[in-house]
Amino acid sequence: MSRASPDDGMPLSHRHRRKLLTLLLMFTALFGAIFVVVNFFGARYALMAVEMALTLLTLSLLPVVRTTYHLRRWCLCYLGLLYAATIYALASPTTSVTVFSWVMIMPLTAHLLLGRRLVGLFSVFYLAVAAGLFFWRFGTDVAVSAPGATANIVAVTIWTYLFSYFYEASRESAEQQLSQQALTDSLTGLANRVHLEQAFHRAANEGALPLSVLILDLDHFKRINDEHGHACGDAVLKKIADTLREQTRVDDVVCRLGGEEFCILLPRTDSDAAYRMAERLREAIEALCCRHNDALLALTASIGVASTVKRGGHLDPMLHAADEKLYQAKFGGRNRVVC
Ligand code: GH3
Ligand code: MG
Ligand code: MG
Repeated sequence: MSRASPDDGMPLSHRHRRKLLTLLLMFTALFGAIFVVVNFFGARYALMAVEMALTLLTLSLLPVVRTTYHLRRWCLCYLGLLYAATIYALASPTTSVTVFSWVMIMPLTAHLLLGRRLVGLFSVFYLAVAAGLFFWRFGTDVAVSAPGATANIVAVTIWTYLFSYFYEASRESAEQQLSQQALTDSLTGLANRVHLEQAFHRAANEGALPLSVLILDLDHFKRINDEHGHACGDAVLKKIADTLREQTRVDDVVCRLGGEEFCILLPRTDSDAAYRMAERLREAIEALCCRHNDALLALTASIGVASTVKRGGHLDPMLHAADEKLYQAKFGGRNRVVC
């Protein structure tokens, strides 16, 4: 059996942010160690102590970051630490003008680790403080006061900020699209089985009880395909999906299990209410006026209902119970609900 990963059930970005933070910690530890040596020989002992503390801290964080369920918190800690260290280095009277190159890549690091929402004001405030310190210390430096030098520094810093912001925005939207596709049935746009399982898990564990499940199967659907073609069958499935969407509440989850079989998850619904809902759906499908060329298609559905009042149950036994009732509905003559 494979071991549970702390990234299971988390957004896709979690996995790569964990790898990135691990890489950054290793990188920080390596360069921290190099700067400890450089500052030791430069007799900058206070800065050396800061670098040493940073190196030891990043090394001790490595095993934590690999397994933590609170990755976001650790990303924030790491960035806070890095921001503080770079500000300290900038304010420190013995450092050189090149320290600012670290400030320039901070927005990029922050966007990659935390996404756009948390970074915004946090980074703008940091950049403003860093820029203030920089010009206070190096404003009269020949390299900085040369014509165009300030414009170069400001332009590159803003460029890095905007580039990382828009890169992260397009990554977020691609991730959202991908997760949406992974949870949606492509023909009808309804939820798919994966989405249903997640919704059931949430409802059963968050106490949306009693909880009911309907399995709805179209009667003699094969005949529609055989007599009018597969494209007509597909159009009927879409129409049924629209009807189910219209007839259910916002909190209900309408799912296409596959073929001409649908499942409706009804949170906070006991078996009596679920039966009434199923009857309403059955009547709506029977009343549908579906035409193909000049022929009027007769549509009916059989529905099985299962309910539970127990917290924390699983979807499979519920589907199994509803499926048995569906079988009884088919066996009893179709176009009916069995509860
Ligand atoms: P019953 O009343 O016993 O449920 O009979 P049925 O004909 O509805 O059930 P059966 O399982 O015999 O046939 C289901 C048909 O659904 C067979 C298959 O061609 C059709 N089907 C499954 N998926 C799709 C689909 O995506 N599009 C179309 N058009 N037809 C599909
Ligand atoms: Mg059928
Ligand atoms: Mg079927």
